[in-house]
Amino acid sequence: MNLVPGQGPLDAQICFVGEAPGHKEAAVGIPFIGPAGSLLFDQLARAAGIVRNQCYITNVVKTLPHKSISSFVDLSKKQAVESDAFVEFKSILKEELEQIRPNVVVAVGNVPLWALTGLKGITKWRGSILESTLVPGLKVIPIIHPASVLRGMYKWRHYIQRDLARVLSESVSPDIISPKHDLILAPDFTTSMEFLEDCKKAKEVGFDIEVMHDHISCFSFSIDERTAISIPIQCKAGHYFDPDQETAIITTMGDVLENPDIEKVIQNAIFDSGFVYNDYGIVTNNMFCTMVAHKMLYPEFEAGLDFMTSVLTEVPYYKDEGKIWGKLVWEERDFWRYSALDSVVLLPIKHKLEAQLDRVGIRDSFDIRMAQLHPLHAMTFYGVRTDHNGLQNERDKLEGQIARNQQTLDDLVGRPLNPNSTKQLQDYFYNELNIKPYINRKTKRPTTDATALVRLSTTHGRKEASTILDIRHDRKLLSTYYDAKLDDDGRTRGNYNPAGTRSGRLSSSKTIFGTGLNMQNIPPGMDRYLVADDGYVIISIDLSQAENRVVAYIAPEQKMQAAFERGEDIHALTASAIFKIPPDQISDEPGSAPFAGGKYSQRFWGKKGNHAINYHEGHVTFALQNEMPQKEAKLILDSILAMYPGLPNYWAWIERAIRSDRTLIDCFDKKRIFWGDPRDNDTMREAYSFIPQSTVRQIMDRWGMLYVYNEPELSEVIQIRDKHDSMDLLFPLKHGWRWIAERVFLITRNLEQPLFYRGAEWTIPADVSIGMNLAKRDKDNPMGLKECTNFKYGSGTGPMAAALEKDATEPLKLFEDLYV
Ligand code: URA
Repeated sequence: MNLVPGQGPLDAQICFVGEAPGHKEAAVGIPFIGPAGSLLFDQLARAAGIVRNQCYITNVVKTLPHKSISSFVDLSKKQAVESDAFVEFKSILKEELEQIRPNVVVAVGNVPLWALTGLKGITKWRGSILESTLVPGLKVIPIIHPASVLRGMYKWRHYIQRDLARVLSESVSPDIISPKHDLILAPDFTTSMEFLEDCKKAKEVGFDIEVMHDHISCFSFSIDERTAISIPIQCKAGHYFDPDQETAIITTMGDVLENPDIEKVIQNAIFDSGFVYNDYGIVTNNMFCTMVAHKMLYPEFEAGLDFMTSVLTEVPYYKDEGKIWGKLVWEERDFWRYSALDSVVLLPIKHKLEAQLDRVGIRDSFDIRMAQLHPLHAMTFYGVRTDHNGLQNERDKLEGQIARNQQTLDDLVGRPLNPNSTKQLQDYFYNELNIKPYINRKTKRPTTDATALVRLSTTHGRKEASTILDIRHDRKLLSTYYDAKLDDDGRTRGNYNPAGTRSGRLSSSKTIFGTGLNMQNIPPGMDRYLVADDGYVIISIDLSQAENRVVAYIAPEQKMQAAFERGEDIHALTASAIFKIPPDQISDEPGSAPFAGGKYSQRFWGKKGNHAINYHEGHVTFALQNEMPQKEAKLILDSILAMYPGLPNYWAWIERAIRSDRTLIDCFDKKRIFWGDPRDNDTMREAYSFIPQSTVRQIMDRWGMLYVYNEPELSEVIQIRDKHDSMDLLFPLKHGWRWIAERVFLITRNLEQPLFYRGAEWTIPADVSIGMNLAKRDKDNPMGLKECTNFKYGSGTGPMAAALEKDATEPLKLFEDLYV
């Protein structure tokens, strides 16, 4: 048994404690000499300014574990199980550390975290400044084990790096200095009011709410980096204050929240401000959402307050303290302390984030997002009128379709087959039909997941597989969309999340009360039952082929640009490369193209191909996504690529940028730093699409949503939905068509401002469609309302726009023809 002893200067100020030696360490007799050690010391520690040979390096377990470290200590159980040998190793470690007495001990991974502090969960505790229980008085900072980075958790290298920077600064002294807080818990009425009065005089306050049974049970304010109050509304015994006191407290809280001169620093501001509006009708002004700021700076990282606290403050992890969920017995005081801590960390976090936003140069984009919090709330609270009878009919149709498909499936199989039973499906395809099983890459076991079913359908021509996919798809439609729980007033709503996606898009989900659905993803067929309110018409404005245009100009891709300049349909042009016929002969009729079973049109494949090729999607993914054989996918993508030689240059440019400084900049100068692995497909996929997606989103944010919300001329126009590159608006009919046409024109003109990038200049035209529901091209009239239609209203430079600027005859006539 090779013992690997600790190694390094006995007067070291930093001591690293690992789990146990690996093979290389055991062979050489030196700790951390293998790949994990090389990553830790040669790369991460060195970059943080920590020099290996100035540190003492050891392990808790000093021999190579036979199988795994769990033979020494099993941390997976609620009560950790330690072997005798482990206990022995702990006492050796204790002696070692007592002899060296470093200023800081770095616990590398779960095992040393446990041995040194008795705590479990390295991802929670990493970065916290703790006191050792093994050697009392000794300062411990846990870090994630570098081996997990080598196993694929790339982003964790950044976390280790940050924590090592803290190790270095903490190594100058053995003192354990936690931030001192002055938390006022369980305050009486006078203390609460005095604190709130102080908040009214502050420039910035931290604010947080706790919610129980769908209502605010307690809120907290901080006025500086150490002082916070937690004011209960509800306690176990009922209301905490008497009704008059509660009213006075809520009113004064409202004064603080509504005051535009006081900045409210909130984690997940859309949630908290939504709740205070819903519970008390208070409109929170001037918000700084720490979650949005963090997501903009570090899109790949966790954005919870616990993570931010660990990286941006010196407050040790506290998030388990006040958690009452699932606990039968809980202490009110712990809960209130937790809430006060949640707001006391906000100001220091904000100050760091603010400095970083400035340094990276994205403060302006952040401010735009903050300005959108009100319009986003407005959209959610307003909701969309819903035709319930229509929805029910559609639901019946879907159920009928599922039943028919199930019958088809049963007939094909010769007996009933449950499309959701993995066992039945595997038995059928892999045993009965004797097809070689598809294997899940992670579990290494046979699978009949969606990817396997697509392959069974396309490669093996099994109609059963495509029928199963259809059934699953329809069932999901029912459960996620058609059966979504609506609010009591019967309107359909969705929440909009300003922290959104990594590319800067907004995302949408159920409301904070668990009702409604993702408004950006409403399936075709359902959107026609989301209808205009009485006295209104729905006008949808969308940026025409927006992302594609951005690609054409930034790539640059001359053929695409020329097509756009000539006003040609880019999807038809691309389809012409696939089908080898002129663009004007490309058909948009379903069934006009042979691929993927022949359901779709030629133009459809042009469009799909454009989306794929712009972002360097390979034929394997394209085949899977479109349920077609790989041969077909390759043919489509190769034909398109031959037409657009500028695209490979674009991909290469993006790849160079990511490899050199991980940074891309959109057409509004918004930067994104990519923290993911540059060799990883997911990182690169996000990189190819970043500039187009982010640019389009910024147009919609700045020139669309905020303009409609703030422009006095548009005060009666109500946005009811955002969908990445389009917006749906309610216009009142009472002022007549001229009034509407003028305002539509105001919006399109504002959207169609020029964009600039690397010497190119272009605009993205806005298309307008008009109707009584959210389905743009819907010729049916589910509510018996006037026919819906879609037409090009024209761009800011188009003939209709010019006519409107002169006397508005042309566009007005168009509107009138449609509706009068
Ligand atoms: N991992 C450890 O925890 N210790 C070593 O010495 C090497 C790898």
